[in-house]
Parts: sequence; C-alpha cells; structure tokens
Amino acid sequence: VTSSVPRVCPDCGGAVLPVVFGFPGPELFEAAERGEILLGGCCMEGDGPVRECNGCGRRWTDAVR
Ligand SMILES: [Zn+2]
Repeated sequence: VTSSVPRVCPDCGGAVLPVVFGFPGPELFEAAERGEILLGGCCMEGDGPVRECNGCGRRWTDAVR
C-alpha cells in the first residue's frame, strides 16, 4: 500500500512522525525522546494511523478515504 503521507513536512520541512495512541510503555517513551514518534495520548483520534509534523503540528492520516 502506498501512503500519501510525506516523510518531510511540505510546510516547514520538519520531520513527519507517526503518532502513537494508547498508554505508552518505556520503549515508546524512549522512541519519543529519540524523535522517532509522537505520543498522542490515551484516546485514539480519527479513523486510523495519524502522523504529525514535529515542527508545525500539521497532521495527516494514513487512512485512505
Ligand atoms: Zn510542518
């Protein structure tokens, strides 16, 4: 499946990171500190996987509508 989500934000050039929902374990906290993911909190938002720009906060979803 080809995703339309860019790896780099077209607005600000920041890294686009996957947002992980749910209660994070130690590994997820470490990944977030390394800048590999963003923590989205305990409640799922939207219909599917979400990615967010680490620079400006612009969001994409992986779900194809
Ligand atoms: Zn951005």
